[in-house]
Amino acid sequence: MAKLAIIGGGIIGLACAYYWRKQNQEVVLIDKGNPGEGPSRCNMGWVSPTLSGPLPGPGMIGTSMKWLFKKDSPLYVKPSAVPFLAPWLIQFMRYCNEQKYQLACDAGFHISKDTFQLFDELVDDGVEFEMHRKGLLVLGSNESDLQHKYEDLKQVERIGLPRPELVTGAELLKMEPHMKANLAGALFLPKERHVRPESMVNGLIDWLQVNGVEMKTNDAVTDIVHNHARVERVRCNTGWVEADMFLLAAGAWSSQLMKKLNYSLPITAGKGYSITYQSPNMEFNHPIYFAKDKTALTPFDGALRIGGTMELSGINDELMSDRVNGIKSSVAKFLSKEIHGSGEVILSGMRPMTPDSLPVLGGLPNFKNVFVAAGHGGNGLLMSLSTGRILSDLISGRDPGLDVTPFSPQRFK
Ligand SMILES: Cc1cc2nc3c(=O)[nH]c(=O)nc-3n(C[C@H](O)[C@H](O)[C@H](O)COP(=O)(O)OP(=O)(O)OC[C@H]3O[C@@H](n4cnc5c(N)ncnc54)[C@H](O)[C@@H]3O)c2cc1C
Repeated sequence: MAKLAIIGGGIIGLACAYYWRKQNQEVVLIDKGNPGEGPSRCNMGWVSPTLSGPLPGPGMIGTSMKWLFKKDSPLYVKPSAVPFLAPWLIQFMRYCNEQKYQLACDAGFHISKDTFQLFDELVDDGVEFEMHRKGLLVLGSNESDLQHKYEDLKQVERIGLPRPELVTGAELLKMEPHMKANLAGALFLPKERHVRPESMVNGLIDWLQVNGVEMKTNDAVTDIVHNHARVERVRCNTGWVEADMFLLAAGAWSSQLMKKLNYSLPITAGKGYSITYQSPNMEFNHPIYFAKDKTALTPFDGALRIGGTMELSGINDELMSDRVNGIKSSVAKFLSKEIHGSGEVILSGMRPMTPDSLPVLGGLPNFKNVFVAAGHGGNGLLMSLSTGRILSDLISGRDPGLDVTPFSPQRFK
């Protein structure tokens, strides 16, 4: 049995551990905290290949300039963080054109094309979690905005998913009676799903524990010892871990770890917030994307979550009240009354952001036994299972069945 040490137990590390263990191989999963905390637990839970498109695109530079330093805007850059963010921002701007946008859309679609099947297989395998197959709504500001979004999102047909359905304001109100009357309408994406992310990480952790995966929790990796082209062991707070292969899946912290291998990878933290209302006063039938403000609403069993926005301020868990209030007021604009519940939990999480919005998947050049699976940005839950499957193929030396060049760790060199 080949032993794989996975550094990072977010949804990506957990999914990779699942697929590696499924091959009857040995796994040790190391996390500096409790596995599945952070963004993997507090995200919006969307499994939406149609909305997997990249953040950089044509017109993005102009739009983001209006937002950049405004504390309640969809994209905020903390002024004091600009000096260390500058190299990442410059790379990001290079991807803000039509050609690179289309390439990233294609890559995102291809990695997501078997997603629903993989989620079904996970259920069949006994992993228990909350999953809904109700589709998803994307709100537009007006008819021409909806038409524009329709043209963009209909590309998903290429991977066998249906085109979005145009929904009038009156039809929207029937689908979601708590929306304001007289809205422009929406696009309905009938096949998209959503899960309660906490239940999915808990379900995976349970499966891994029952199936003999060793979990080292509250144990940070502080050093990586390598001898020429091989990593031999990693140092944790509580001692050394040896393995045959190593997988870096440390989300927004991945760049820091890479430096220990003298490898530079442009992954920065894109902080997002979510607010979860327990026993909410309103029930919704579908997740809803408020596209203009980049905020979202997700109904779960017995709870409602709103969230979104992107804050580039480095790795920190500071909760900025301006940004939380910005999310609340963005959602409130569309609803007939204010949301409240028996409890309100506000959390933040660091999306691991690459400049092109695509994850980094594959073997690290110059090393025979080191792999990376990080940088999934706003699509980590969506791409978790396909990432786990692809990495188990790559680590075993099998063909993963798709072109992994767009995800190469070398592409930023
Ligand atoms: C508000 C919000 C909404 C989102 N909504 C969605 C959505 O609807 N759908 C979707 O697909 N995605 C969504 N995302 C994105 C998704 O949550 C992330 O892409 C995903 O959680 C990233 O997972 P990860 O495992 O790469 O990173 P993480 O979850 O951050 O896990 C990395 C792990 O590595 C550990 N670690 C770091 N350094 C070390 C070290 N030195 N030693 C040991 N362990 C270490 C950390 O403790 C952490 O547990 C959202 C994100 C946010 C913030």
